[in-house]
Amino acid sequence: MHPDPENPWSYIKGLEPVSFCDWPGRTSLVLFTGTCNLRCPTCHNPDLARQPETLPGISKEALLRRIRSKGSWLDGVVVSGGEPTAVPGLKEIILAISDLDLPVKLDSNGFYPQVVEDLLQKDLVDLFAVDVKGPYFRYPELTGGRADPEGARDNLERVFALAREWPERFVFRCTRVPGLTEEDLDLVRSYLPPSHNLIVQQYRRPPTPVGETPGEAPEQTDEQGASRP
Ligand code: SF4
Repeated sequence: MHPDPENPWSYIKGLEPVSFCDWPGRTSLVLFTGTCNLRCPTCHNPDLARQPETLPGISKEALLRRIRSKGSWLDGVVVSGGEPTAVPGLKEIILAISDLDLPVKLDSNGFYPQVVEDLLQKDLVDLFAVDVKGPYFRYPELTGGRADPEGARDNLERVFALAREWPERFVFRCTRVPGLTEEDLDLVRSYLPPSHNLIVQQYRRPPTPVGETPGEAPEQTDEQGASRP
């Protein structure tokens, strides 16, 4: 079923009840939101990003019941995707998690800085993990033509400005996809606020082919082993 823009809960298309690596140092439950503004050729979970209507959903009630049932085990909830900040009404989901007294980590590509800022100002997210795809000039190829260099720069510079204000609330990551050079990574490092180091994610191919073209979708892992579409 297609997600309903009037119902943010309908965008939740996956759940991992217990994860030890998606929020390093914490035991977390991970929610996966289905939708994304980008079309990265190396996306690990293209169905989630491109055709979430093909994936089963979970009702708000069932979801909150699952979280409550795991509550005593959990140190937090990770909201991942797809791109969570592209979900209309995302705040409603995060507010409901906060009402359960669970900290929230949000994974994002940084293209909706206004959503990030709103969540920060309302103190609803404890940690943003922002994926920088590469140097701005390479965004068109790295995002399947969905982002131009100027748009990438505008959005990410707003996110970096927020990270200067709230340094402890951000980590920045970059996946070394095929063709990304050491010079590219240095350029990405130069974008970050001085308070932040770049987490370079290695990738390895998933055990079973995913995506439209077999072999195009490597698994991405960061230093702590956390996976990310
Ligand atoms: S890798 Fe992330 S940003 Fe890129 S298409 Fe997949 S979900 Fe979207």
